[in-house]
Amino acid sequence: MTLPTKAKVVIVGGGIHGLSTAWKLSETYKNPNDIIVLEKKDTAAGASGIACGVVRNNYFQPAMRELMAHSVGVWESDAKSFKYNPVGYMQISPEVMHEDVSSIYEQQKAIGYESVFVEGEKDCLKYMKSIFNDWQAKGITSVLHEKKGGYAFNKDSIKALESKANSNGVNVHKGIKVTGFKRGSNSNAITGVVTNQGTIDCDQVVIGAGPWVRDFWNMLELPKTTDVKSKDGKIHKVDMWKYWFLQEGVLGVEANYLKTNDNKLPPVIHVDTDAPLYSDKSGKLITDKLWGIYYKPDIDGLGVQGGTSPYIVNEHFDKVKVDPYGIESPDYQTTDTFSEMWCSALAHCQKRFEGKSNLYRKGPSGGLGCLTPDSFPIFDRFCENVYMIADANHGYKMIGVGHLVAQEILGKESELLKPFRFNRYANGELHPTSNSPFPWS
Ligand SMILES: Cc1cc2nc3c(=O)[nH]c(=O)nc-3n(C[C@H](O)[C@H](O)[C@H](O)COP(=O)(O)OP(=O)(O)OC[C@H]3O[C@@H](n4cnc5c(N)ncnc54)[C@H](O)[C@@H]3O)c2cc1C
Repeated sequence: MTLPTKAKVVIVGGGIHGLSTAWKLSETYKNPNDIIVLEKKDTAAGASGIACGVVRNNYFQPAMRELMAHSVGVWESDAKSFKYNPVGYMQISPEVMHEDVSSIYEQQKAIGYESVFVEGEKDCLKYMKSIFNDWQAKGITSVLHEKKGGYAFNKDSIKALESKANSNGVNVHKGIKVTGFKRGSNSNAITGVVTNQGTIDCDQVVIGAGPWVRDFWNMLELPKTTDVKSKDGKIHKVDMWKYWFLQEGVLGVEANYLKTNDNKLPPVIHVDTDAPLYSDKSGKLITDKLWGIYYKPDIDGLGVQGGTSPYIVNEHFDKVKVDPYGIESPDYQTTDTFSEMWCSALAHCQKRFEGKSNLYRKGPSGGLGCLTPDSFPIFDRFCENVYMIADANHGYKMIGVGHLVAQEILGKESELLKPFRFNRYANGELHPTSNSPFPWS
């Protein structure tokens, strides 16, 4: 496929955001090379291709919830092609999170997002046992059961988006690395995208680069720090990006090991708790602080897949080696500490996992995510005509964001995207934060 020298819109990144933007935009821009996607490796080669695939609404921030409800609609619009399993999602929490989760439930009701909320230790145990008769986690005082959401097959859904964009005439150019931008002489706007195989002149650029967003920020010569106004009116200078490592893995039990009492596919389970966690191997205390895990059947039928809270990569963002990415990374992989914690946590929650830690599938897993100053997405225009989709690692579930970005490019501002503008930091219009141990809840 020859790389054109001109396009209306150049989209960088063959992940969930680049391809969903291409798909939606191609319903309007129909001429050959109106829209092109540039991908340095292959579609699904980035974070979207290794995501656990969980789709949920459970966010403490109203703007995140409304955005997720929109995305769930897009998942549901073609569940078959996206390989989306609408099995639901459960947030299972201790008392310290009760109030936060209760407000999520109330607001889900207000936006018509179906969920069940169970309160009190006894009723929570009863509810959980009605789904899994071996449920045994202690100290749980609220269960939010989202009836929508679930999980999708990471690579398959990305390939489905690629094929939807292709069938509308979009060419995805693979093996093309963006190395810089060309600017006009009398404005800040970008007039072309420079690649390892030539420059493409264009009117608009969309960046959907996941963990590589830092590289594009640098190429556009945007500032390394940003001012963040806190609630007390004080201004804090904060690094623009920070990397976290997402810890995930697979317990190699048989494919149907995690079924419900009535032999159905289970909802995605997310447990946060402050109950002490003991090693399933040695019985030693792992932690008595708030901890959390999530799990679901593995999409490749390899057992049960899930993870725990990520950890911060303690290096300036410019020093973090993002390439090679994912399971190929020599620097960032899960460790035995993760597998012991996660397997023990599974056993803490359900009896069927007791004594199964030895079945953990050793090998590379997990991946880097690039987070923003407040760990929530930035969807905004920079340098006049560059639309940046910086999802702060929330984004596989956000299949609908590309649709909204496409609308904005076509001139219709999205109310759902407005709360995620860059100027919220300087204006102190920050999203509320919760008591969850995860940076993205
Ligand atoms: C281990 C892990 C598990 C996760 N689990 C979930 C989950 O269960 N649910 C959820 O909602 N989110 C999850 N996430 C987050 C989610 O995967 C990301 O937020 C989302 O996939 C980002 O999508 P993207 O399209 O922005 O980027 P990516 O999917 O990373 O795509 C970016 C693409 O840009 C390409 N690229 C980079 N640099 C260049 C360049 N210079 N030139 C050309 N192309 C370039 C890359 O090759 C890549 O293919 C997880 C993340 C990780 C790491």
